[in-house]
Amino acid sequence: MATIDEVLGKAKDVADAAGKKASEIVRKTQIRMEINSLEKEIAATFEGIGRLVYDADKSGEDIAELKEDLYKTIEALRKKIDALRDELCEYNGAIRCKACGAINANDSVFCSKCGEKL
Ligand SMILES: [Zn+2]
Repeated sequence: MATIDEVLGKAKDVADAAGKKASEIVRKTQIRMEINSLEKEIAATFEGIGRLVYDADKSGEDIAELKEDLYKTIEALRKKIDALRDELCEYNGAIRCKACGAINANDSVFCSKCGEKL
């Protein structure tokens, strides 16, 4: 027969596990929303580059430096998305390929899509 402490201990474990699962779900939702927002930011930056290039072609203005800054902005946003996708993979018990972005099972040694070592 279980003691009261054992029963209470088990109840606490179940409550802790449920709490952990709930906070994991919240974080995964947050990550997906952040990725979505960053993707929109990238799209807006690309649109801005297009407008800038068009205006510069019309006016003959040199925008090389400005374009370079915007490219760096896009790269930085993509890195943030990669980090968030990696975090999501950890929650889902998966590994994301650094080369092609494919999601692989946790015990994979090579990427199932491109063959890259994981
Ligand atoms: Zn790959």
